[in-house]
Amino acid sequence: MTESGTTYDLVILGGGSGGYAAALRAATLGLSVAVVEKDKVGGTCLHRGCIPTKALLHAAEVADSAREGEQFGVRTTLEGVDMGGVNKYKDGVVDRLFKGLQGQLKARGITVIEGEGRLTSPTTVDVGGTSYTGKNVILASGSYSRSLPGLELDGHRVIASEHALTMDRVPESAVVLGGGVIGVEFASAWTSFGTKVTIVEALPRLVPAEDADCSKTLERAFRKRKIAFKTGTAFESVEVVDNGVKVTVAGGEVIEAEVLLVAVGRGPNTSGLGYEEVGVALDRGFVTVDPNTLLTSVPGVYAVGDIVPGLQLAHRGFQQGIFVAEHIAGLNPTPIDEAGIPRVTYSEPEVASVGLTEEQARDKHGEVDILNYNLGGNGKSQILKTAGFVKLVRAKDGAVVGLHMVGSRVGELIGEAQLIYNWEAYPADVAPLVHAHPTQNEALGEAHLALAGKPLHFHD
Ligand SMILES: Cc1cc2nc3c(=O)[nH]c(=O)nc-3n(C[C@H](O)[C@H](O)[C@H](O)COP(=O)(O)OP(=O)(O)OC[C@H]3O[C@@H](n4cnc5c(N)ncnc54)[C@H](O)[C@@H]3O)c2cc1C
Repeated sequence: MTESGTTYDLVILGGGSGGYAAALRAATLGLSVAVVEKDKVGGTCLHRGCIPTKALLHAAEVADSAREGEQFGVRTTLEGVDMGGVNKYKDGVVDRLFKGLQGQLKARGITVIEGEGRLTSPTTVDVGGTSYTGKNVILASGSYSRSLPGLELDGHRVIASEHALTMDRVPESAVVLGGGVIGVEFASAWTSFGTKVTIVEALPRLVPAEDADCSKTLERAFRKRKIAFKTGTAFESVEVVDNGVKVTVAGGEVIEAEVLLVAVGRGPNTSGLGYEEVGVALDRGFVTVDPNTLLTSVPGVYAVGDIVPGLQLAHRGFQQGIFVAEHIAGLNPTPIDEAGIPRVTYSEPEVASVGLTEEQARDKHGEVDILNYNLGGNGKSQILKTAGFVKLVRAKDGAVVGLHMVGSRVGELIGEAQLIYNWEAYPADVAPLVHAHPTQNEALGEAHLALAGKPLHFHD
């Protein structure tokens, strides 16, 4: 049966970043849209990801400020962290944004269907026995916290990020399995709250997807913050004991802690949803798409967000959702340049980047020019007492193909970095731009001045 006999222009399975962005854009373009959502619109990012973790990290920054006030001549003491209060603040932020999103969807006439959807044909999604028909369908079912073979999450001692976000206490100690973005963010926030953290990462460095210099500087900062980390170290097993866990890593070393946070990546939610039965091609669980259209192997069925291979980031999902909506509406949008998607790790310090790492640029372009601008020369960074750098990578005498930054709050600089990257700018194009003083943005300006051969506050 089709609900009220309605055929929508677009039915979207999943109301997270990718799904709801597609819905909002499509409705704005005059398409009739239904979104099927089994939990809450906003998905992982709003309820269990980007927003609550960043609220946690902001509370962590407040704790650091209280602890470190003396450095700035302000007498403060950190009396403690009330996780109930932190959670109330965090949940309040999420709730306001959730209500705002619900209002946006309603105001644009988008039908939200609550329940678990299943693709039953290229044009239909079944929800509890009712079939919803769309001239086009977008799959946007998102991702789940992965674990390792044989490592069971119990949600209590062996936890994933969604459990960590609802903890009613600051753990005294934690082992964080995985030194990627999610692991590093929790390690940073918990350390600020007073947890003794040890990160275990199988690859040779923290944030291994980033430029090697970013890893080096982040590791130095973490050492200074007394965040222990073991890189190039495989996890072997965990034993849950009365008051915590005993984690065994390669070499037989045992680390005892109150909790083990498993942050080893996210898998696509694509099984049991009818995708393969309808003919949607999957590769290791991810949906295969044509990068120029985001069409799956089934005509009229698109996929966006974390189920599509590539960076699992909310803003990529948003952009893909907008792209597909415009494609369906016949606007002929420009395909998304995956390399131009900015990446930010919101730890203390932050890591922000866009484009190619030095290693990738050497592989692609052969000879490259590299410029490292130390934040020691940037007034605002000195005011903030942060260490770090801006690193520019360009093809020999060519355009800037990678920008990498480490330092407190450098995530806020990524907008300009992304413009430079997407503009395919030469250092000489960026050098004349006037940057307000004192800002951290000036570091980007100074780096380009130096690379253009006109260094100001910079010398090798
Ligand atoms: C701890 C953490 C921190 C993060 N921080 C950031 C960050 O700072 N910045 C950033 O860019 N990204 C961040 N991410 C990643 C970001 O959350 C995801 O990339 C983004 O949410 C993906 O959007 P999506 O639409 O693909 O999937 P999701 O947001 O996961 O949404 C999928 C939706 O589909 C629904 N669904 C699934 N199956 C069905 C079904 N059968 N029927 C109906 N509904 C269904 C789900 O309930 C969910 O609401 C973070 C992720 C985590 C876990």
